[in-house]
Amino acid sequence: MSTVAVADLLPGFNCGKCERRDCVEFAQALIEGADLDQCPFMEQARFARRKEELMTLLSDGTENERPAGVIDGLSAQFTLMPLPGESSCREDLYPFYRAVELKEGDLIRYRPLGCPITHFASVLGVSKGILTVHIIGPQNLIGHGAFEPQDIGICMVAAFEGTLGKGKMPRVCETVRFLPHHCMMGKVHSGIVVAIEGRRIRIEGIDLKVWCTSP
Ligand code: SF4
Repeated sequence: MSTVAVADLLPGFNCGKCERRDCVEFAQALIEGADLDQCPFMEQARFARRKEELMTLLSDGTENERPAGVIDGLSAQFTLMPLPGESSCREDLYPFYRAVELKEGDLIRYRPLGCPITHFASVLGVSKGILTVHIIGPQNLIGHGAFEPQDIGICMVAAFEGTLGKGKMPRVCETVRFLPHHCMMGKVHSGIVVAIEGRRIRIEGIDLKVWCTSP
């Protein structure tokens, strides 16, 4: 998909309200996963047809590419990529060890329920017992001196949030099979889409048990 083809469907006002220098720069950002609603004009009725074309164009070329899991070889409907400017998809965790006291910026070690791999993550926020985190590799912890990530044991992964990568945009309420880009095992996950905003997708009810009718 070319930047020019995407830019042609934008308003062309070059006003900078999307916090980009011009529409061409925003077109490139869209290809990289930015949300279309950052251009306020695309919400107006006069641009409705162009918006529809743009959404089709942005998913075109990848919607027939079905990513496959490495571990189980199952095909996923799409890959979930990080939000623009972020290093990994966001995960919401529900720790079983409730006495844990954590705050933004803390580093943690945990094992998602059903996954054999120990994960390392940094905490983005804590709300009503749910931690929102970014996954970081163990190598990112080198240089933290004597600092040890807090071990919070087994956690239920409640949600994923990111942007559509390869594959077809799902619908809200759809039960989906997806591949989080940072999954070290390349394991297909399942869940239910609860919100879509532009290319941003939130999936809850995460499960590593994936049904397999047609791999
Ligand atoms: S806000 Fe819309 S019209 Fe203005 S520069 Fe960005 S893409 Fe172009």
